[in-house]
Amino acid sequence: MNIQPGRHVRRKRNRLLLVTLGFFLGACSDNVVAQTTARGDGKGGSQAAQLLVDGRRAYRHLNDICNLGPRFSGSDGMRRQQRMLAEHFRRLGGTVWIQPFQVRHPETGRPVKMGNLVVQWHADRTSRILLSAHYDTRPFPDRDSDISRRHGTFIGANDGASGVAVLCELAYHMASLQGSVGVDFVLFDGEEFVFDDQRDSYFCGSTYFARQHAAHSPKYRYRWCVLLDMVGDAELQIYQERISVYHALPLVQAIWRVAKREGADAFVPRIRHRVQDDHLPLNEIAHIPTCLLIDFDYPRPGTHISYWHTRQDTPDKCSAASLAVVGRVLLAWLREER
Ligand SMILES: [Zn+2]
Repeated sequence: MNIQPGRHVRRKRNRLLLVTLGFFLGACSDNVVAQTTARGDGKGGSQAAQLLVDGRRAYRHLNDICNLGPRFSGSDGMRRQQRMLAEHFRRLGGTVWIQPFQVRHPETGRPVKMGNLVVQWHADRTSRILLSAHYDTRPFPDRDSDISRRHGTFIGANDGASGVAVLCELAYHMASLQGSVGVDFVLFDGEEFVFDDQRDSYFCGSTYFARQHAAHSPKYRYRWCVLLDMVGDAELQIYQERISVYHALPLVQAIWRVAKREGADAFVPRIRHRVQDDHLPLNEIAHIPTCLLIDFDYPRPGTHISYWHTRQDTPDKCSAASLAVVGRVLLAWLREER
């Protein structure tokens, strides 16, 4: 993704609070198996089913993805990732297909084969929700503080794997999702097949997906879409993102309402940052109201360090607890969408 400059209003964090909270999270194993109890809707009586979002399992997925190495568009790592994820989602009962498209390599001019990975759950339900993330990684760590290493290896644990890992975990809960709303996952390729920020295009996969959706008006309707990006930061703080508020305010409000009820303090009920990401084409071309969940301050607001697009974006900067809380809020919200 890209961020519009000049909007970074930094706020001093209470460091002591974070340290204390971090210790508490570390000491309390329940935080990685985030538990939410399905509530009754007042009509059909209460449902006793407990939904366990397993952060440790999500984190294992994040590790497995990162162990594939760099996964930029057209790479071997991306192909291995596609196979691994397709197998995972199929095993859990999802219908998986690749939406292929082709992009010209910005440097060589050669065609690069790309593909969005789509997973469908409960295909018969005509009112649907889309959950999305990008699964390609930046070709290089081009913001690394060591200029000589900017053509080195970029793993993309947070920027790339974290959103995918949350969807890998949510997949365990999709087949049993009650109600009339169906869910699709889409993993976008070509989000940042970018070698030169000024020259190259972002959001190739989501733009292709949005155009196809707009051109073919399917039988089903996407009520909402949630886009996950950089949701694994061990010091997670997700603010309401400005473009999401503009296009999908009721969705933003619903998610933060659920987060408050769930005690998910990582969801901060304030607007911060305007981030250009895959939700732009979804909102503007496909007209699917889409909310981006992102913690762009990586590791935290008020510091001058950022692991974003550097060699430091590795699994040790992410945590099971962060993946769990995002998964838990999303699952609780999905259960309310009827
Ligand atoms: Zn990125």
